[in-house]
Amino acid sequence: MTFKELNISEPILKALINKKYETPTPIQEQAIPVALSGQDLLGIAQTGTGKTAAFAIPIIQKLNQPQPKGQKREIKALILTPTRELAIQIDECFSDYSKYTDLRHTVIFGGVSQIPQVETLKRGIDILIATPGRLLDLINQKIITLNHIRHFVLDEADRMLDMGFIHDIKRLLPILPKRKQTLFFSATMPLAIANLSKSILHNPAKVEVTPVSSTVNTIDQQLYFVEKPDKSSLLVSILEKEQKSTLVFSRTKHGADKIARVLNKRGIGCEAIHGNKKQGARQRALSNFKLGKTHVIIATDIAARGIDISNLEMVINYDLPDIAETYVHRIGRTGRAGKSGTALSFCTQEERTMVKDIQKLTGKKLNAVLTA
Ligand code: AMP
Repeated sequence: MTFKELNISEPILKALINKKYETPTPIQEQAIPVALSGQDLLGIAQTGTGKTAAFAIPIIQKLNQPQPKGQKREIKALILTPTRELAIQIDECFSDYSKYTDLRHTVIFGGVSQIPQVETLKRGIDILIATPGRLLDLINQKIITLNHIRHFVLDEADRMLDMGFIHDIKRLLPILPKRKQTLFFSATMPLAIANLSKSILHNPAKVEVTPVSSTVNTIDQQLYFVEKPDKSSLLVSILEKEQKSTLVFSRTKHGADKIARVLNKRGIGCEAIHGNKKQGARQRALSNFKLGKTHVIIATDIAARGIDISNLEMVINYDLPDIAETYVHRIGRTGRAGKSGTALSFCTQEERTMVKDIQKLTGKKLNAVLTA
């Protein structure tokens, strides 16, 4: 299957060639024809599957029509996503894929001044990528109207729920026009999400890739039994041995900073990203990591959510997550696109029940490397 066979138009095909995308990923293969047909879509897919292009490409294609002269551009597509990082990444995807069209898009999120965002909005845009809080804020200020929305994407719905955005979404839904296409994406389908999807989708096509309970075989998963005071020296020794691009997960923001301090002291260049860091600092840390200036980034689950770091060689669970599915999300950041990856988990006595939960969910036994 090629993108051409999916009836993707020339300007987008050209952009995909620039991106060196050769074939559609499974979610793209399934979702693009549905989205192009105008049908609603329920997509069960996690980050890393190519789901952004699965909704961005058909939206660009459908909206790519000459802008009538003298008419103000109205927002015709809204993509709602839970985090700033994810919103920025989606916006970058729209820049890439719509490069050879004259569509305009922008991204809005909280935690920064609204002034530049408002200026861009006032010049007129076709596609808006937003996090819920800032969107509702600008709607209340009458800076944004959504009367012309034809395409609505709810991205990472399960994360929205986890992060407490469900009320914001419920406030937003009645503001959207009744006649529109809705594309709903979630990595998991807990009951609350299934109910939400039922309430907003009309006769949707369901598309599902890589169930969340499965981890890919290209990831080498290992377990280290270690007591809490020894975690940082274990981390240092692994990172000194393995010069790999590594994402380290910490349970808390404070913990992430502490790990960063220890590593930096030992000469291992790294940065921590979490919700207490200013937006600029988080972006800088990410770009330093992506450019290879640092090899290690430490993140909390919320900060790391949706971050696309390609060529990530290793994920380390410095702390194990409370929810087994989070483990699958975390380690899914390595071993992408057929590449091999390594996922190491540190496990204290108290965390042993979590290992049991993870093994039960994934159906795989984690190989223990060291026993304390
Ligand atoms: P996503 O799941 O949308 O976060 O995408 C994960 C990564 O896959 C991103 O780095 C995309 O640029 C990349 N990607 C998306 N679609 C394709 C494709 N068809 N071929 C190669 N890479 C892709």
